[in-house]
Amino acid sequence: MAGIRTARPARPASPGSPAARLDAAILRVLAAAATPMGTYAIMAAIARLEERSIYPNQVYRALERLIGAELVDRVEMSSGYLLRPGLRGVILICSLCGGASQVDAGPLHEGLRKTAERHGFSVERTIIEASGRCSTCIDVAEARASDRI
Ligand SMILES: [Zn+2]
Repeated sequence: MAGIRTARPARPASPGSPAARLDAAILRVLAAAATPMGTYAIMAAIARLEERSIYPNQVYRALERLIGAELVDRVEMSSGYLLRPGLRGVILICSLCGGASQVDAGPLHEGLRKTAERHGFSVERTIIEASGRCSTCIDVAEARASDRI
């Protein structure tokens, strides 16, 4: 199963403002994450990092700004957020371990843009996700299967 989503950009935070500080904290938290993080996990990590409480609405607004600035991607399949590495990628989500990675898929995005243009549609942003099994989980499953023989 693959999901495709487009989003409108949100207004960036003013430099030096509390919102900009929160955006930077979220980017630090997501940079250290191995799997997509949900809003409440992000809130808890920021509370530990900055030793202050934070409200869900603040995190939601910050995530909207960071998605608008193309610094963060929302992973629809796991309702989590990932740091965007700055390439036109596909998010690959492992349905067993929950791990996510992004791989470059420029030709896929280009094909989608051209298809949309043929229908008179101008694509502003595209996120493509695919679920399946990561190489580690496939290796573990194969090792277990060979142990049984
Ligand atoms: Zn996996």
